[in-house]
Amino acid sequence: MQIREMEVIPVAHREPPLRNSWGAHSEVAARTIVRLTTADGEVGVGETYGDERVIDALERAAGLVEGMNPFARKPLELRLQDPMAYGAVDTALVDLLGRHLGEPAYNVLGGKVRDEVAFSGYLFYKYADSDPDSASVAPYEVDSAESMVEEAREFVGEHGFRTLKVKGGVLDPDEELRTLELLAEEFGRDVPLRIDPNGTWSVETATRIARRLREMDLRVQFLEDPVPTMHAHARLKRNVDYPIATNMFVTEFDQIAPAVELDAVDVILSDHHYWGGMTGNLRLDDAARTLDLGVGMHSNSHLGVSMAAMAHVAAAMPTVRYACDTHYPWMAEDVIEGGPLAFEDGCIALSDEPGLGVELDESELARMRERYHETDPLAYSSVSSMAAEYADAETEVGRAAWLPNKPRW
Ligand code: MG
Repeated sequence: MQIREMEVIPVAHREPPLRNSWGAHSEVAARTIVRLTTADGEVGVGETYGDERVIDALERAAGLVEGMNPFARKPLELRLQDPMAYGAVDTALVDLLGRHLGEPAYNVLGGKVRDEVAFSGYLFYKYADSDPDSASVAPYEVDSAESMVEEAREFVGEHGFRTLKVKGGVLDPDEELRTLELLAEEFGRDVPLRIDPNGTWSVETATRIARRLREMDLRVQFLEDPVPTMHAHARLKRNVDYPIATNMFVTEFDQIAPAVELDAVDVILSDHHYWGGMTGNLRLDDAARTLDLGVGMHSNSHLGVSMAAMAHVAAAMPTVRYACDTHYPWMAEDVIEGGPLAFEDGCIALSDEPGLGVELDESELARMRERYHETDPLAYSSVSSMAAEYADAETEVGRAAWLPNKPRW
């Protein structure tokens, strides 16, 4: 069995101006689809970030992937030395092998430990969508605790999420605290809550907020990256009794040991787009279980191929006991046939079809690929475009003068 062709297909999709500590998501964002085709015409598909750096790395990787046996992934991982590029290829290899063997992706990964995967309702403060008709949910501005509750009602009503996560680091920490309080009043004080300020709080601010949350007796599952650095988290953990989760200061295997030695983390957020792809996330799961760490799942804006991959890999990771994160419900369009995949009671039921169980919609793929090539690449969702949005919307200073200097509060 031999791979004949690896296609790297950038696509642009619309998404809402969701806010975070860097600014706001661009309303036209990029993703990359990777498609492998064997000499016999069998196909495997992956999806990853759409930054130019990732696209360049994937295009360089094609020379190593074409001609390889799809079962022989370890030599490829060693040759690539690029976790992001490898992650996309690994996903396409798992899909390809599943289709070839007639087995769902979770069986290629060793079998599932759950039949459905729970996701959190990922709530954002946001600007109003410039084109409300293209929004899948909540096209209005969300800039207060009250409007966040309205957004959450729509989200929970439509998708049934049973865990709520707030992207913080946007409003004053006390307003974000009030948001959690109102969400608990609306959905019940036993609803699991999380907040992710992306390192914008000082240790002192995070300590004060965490103590207030404890006094209010809210069911906060963990605080995600509340402060900016690994050492700041170690210092914070001496002050608070909520678990600390991260997708910012432990993002590769070499960072696990120092974080454990410092006692800076309780929950590592996995992500098959890096961490060695879908197969590498199984190693993360084993490492975390050995070290008595929890595992959740990080998300960035993504389409249906990644949604399917996230569900399959989460189902194959025993240590994933937290509802996973996903931006998927915010996306109003998709590259998969019959998309988007539907949530039921906040869960994605696993497909038993071979591979990831999704097929590319060729006409949607062509349309979104054309948009990528027609649109100014600077408009894509990236830290630099977010910084530009932030400077425009939040401050009087020019783009060049704005610095993402953390902690902010
Ligand atoms: Mg995070």
